[in-house]
Amino acid sequence: MKIIFDLDETLIYNSHDPKSSLKKFELVYSPRLSDQFMLRPFAREVLCALNAKYEVILASFSTKNRISQVLRVASISDCFSQVFPRESLDPCYRDENTESSYFIDDFILIDDKGLDDKHTLAKLKFFGSSVEDYSARLLKIPEFRGNDSDRELLAVLDKVSILTKGIA
Ligand SMILES: [Mg+2]
Repeated sequence: MKIIFDLDETLIYNSHDPKSSLKKFELVYSPRLSDQFMLRPFAREVLCALNAKYEVILASFSTKNRISQVLRVASISDCFSQVFPRESLDPCYRDENTESSYFIDDFILIDDKGLDDKHTLAKLKFFGSSVEDYSARLLKIPEFRGNDSDRELLAVLDKVSILTKGIA
């Protein structure tokens, strides 16, 4: 069983919301272009706990450059065995040397968007379950908007252990 996480609004929120007491992490793209994000409460703890039992993968339609900066500054790079950025997932950004799919027999995608979202659907297709399996493969969680009392990732731990019971 592999656990695939979305990034934006699932693990982080890209904002410098002054109301939130969560730590703001800085992303620097160029001397004049920078950005901030907040890590969802319990992200590191939950990723570590899942890592002990499952292979944990990141799949996001954000760019490779931004994702690697996010993982580095939030110190969660080693939580993921593989990262699939936009350059892997989106045919418009994929070069001819990159595989157009990466089939995994058993996985759960944890994402703040549902099956009606084209990016979520594209990820499910990329990792390759059959159409009738899509809803069973998706664990949709409420989006993270910088709320410092957010506890949704703790709930993910319980849900994953229920979903994987007997097949882990
Ligand atoms: Mg998202």
